[in-house]
Amino acid sequence: MHVIEIIQKKRDNKPLLKDEVNFLIKNFLSGEIAHYQMSAFLMATCINSMSDEEISWLTDAMLYSGVVVSHDNISGPFIDKHSTGGIGDKISIPLAPAIAACGLKVPMIAGRGLGHTGGTLDKLEAIPGFRCDLSLEEYKKQVAHIGCVIMGQTKDIAPADKIIYALRDVTGTVESIPLISSSIMSKKLAEGIDGLVLDVKFGSGAFMKELERARTLASTMVAIGAHMGKKVTALLTNMDQPLGTMIGNSLEIIESIDILRNKGPHDSTELTVELGAEMLLLGNKCDSLEAGRDLVRESLASGQAFTKFIEMVKAQGGDVSYVLEPCRFKPAPRKFIIEASESGYISSIDSRTFGLAAGLLGGSRMALGDEINYSVGIEIFAKIGDQVTKGQPICVIHADDKGLEEATFRIKNAINIVSYPVTKPVLCKERISTN
Ligand code: URA
Repeated sequence: MHVIEIIQKKRDNKPLLKDEVNFLIKNFLSGEIAHYQMSAFLMATCINSMSDEEISWLTDAMLYSGVVVSHDNISGPFIDKHSTGGIGDKISIPLAPAIAACGLKVPMIAGRGLGHTGGTLDKLEAIPGFRCDLSLEEYKKQVAHIGCVIMGQTKDIAPADKIIYALRDVTGTVESIPLISSSIMSKKLAEGIDGLVLDVKFGSGAFMKELERARTLASTMVAIGAHMGKKVTALLTNMDQPLGTMIGNSLEIIESIDILRNKGPHDSTELTVELGAEMLLLGNKCDSLEAGRDLVRESLASGQAFTKFIEMVKAQGGDVSYVLEPCRFKPAPRKFIIEASESGYISSIDSRTFGLAAGLLGGSRMALGDEINYSVGIEIFAKIGDQVTKGQPICVIHADDKGLEEATFRIKNAINIVSYPVTKPVLCKERISTN
């Protein structure tokens, strides 16, 4: 077997064998296959895609390039959630404790900001002291004792994905359904879960803008899960406008605390409830989605979800006083209000621009190793379909010494107002499940 023949086969759109996929991953990880050869293979895959069989072999090969966590004698079920990434998407932060408070184990391995989207780990690190770099032993212990953990990918979890992902980032090969689905599923399956809920985004702030492509991505990941004997449900959710009211690291922690205290914005609370109900259904904690929704709402309303969050923050070294008194988060020194330019109805919001603007303010990394400014970001008060009057404040930009002018210019141009009423978009559009 030779790597050049494997690259040529993919280039010529010929089916690969399972042994060839395994050979490729194994020898790339050991350093025998060069980065330029893997880059050529990745580009050929982007162009010619992969069959369902090839995708499941690739997922297997990346999954078994590292360890699959065994939760030993701990009782489950172990259910996780993964989002393909969006603007203002902080849902993992209230969701993991809310669902752990309902009796499931949530062993979440999350990511950092990618492109224009924020990352759960960066947001959590806005809480002083919060550690995302737990060892596998600490991870397992926390799941056993508290019921939930949110941490980063260790070197033992799908290491082949870790290097291939970094290579894709610099070779224009991120946007490929076989590569995205095998990357996400190899990491999630390594957590030793029984079931997984996927939040697959579509719309202006999503990696997959078109609903049709998001649907294909969702079905591909659900099929990989089914092949591995796992229960997987995917919700296709709208990312044509930012989720919730806050974009930016500490601002999103403040909104997460509001959700956990049952006083969060309507849309981000609704998505927490929907995804949570799906997790509880997969984990057999309820026998219908409606019953699951009631359990999540009760977890938020009773304070149990918030208490579980405090336990999680404490266990991961975070300063709980910030959670108890969110006014302790250092505010950005400059605030700039954006007003509605005319009276009418909000017809569109380019959410990708909000993500990029948060980055310009210093809220995300433009290059590896950049420092993040946790205080900066954007608050948005009006959503698609809302009626506004000229001069009404619709956004506040929280800025420090970077990017205020450009971010303001971009945000102003990202919001359209029309004179006629506009229908509000449906947040959860479709559901695809192995069940
Ligand atoms: N998230 C991942 O983990 N992998 C991808 O390829 C894209 C998003």
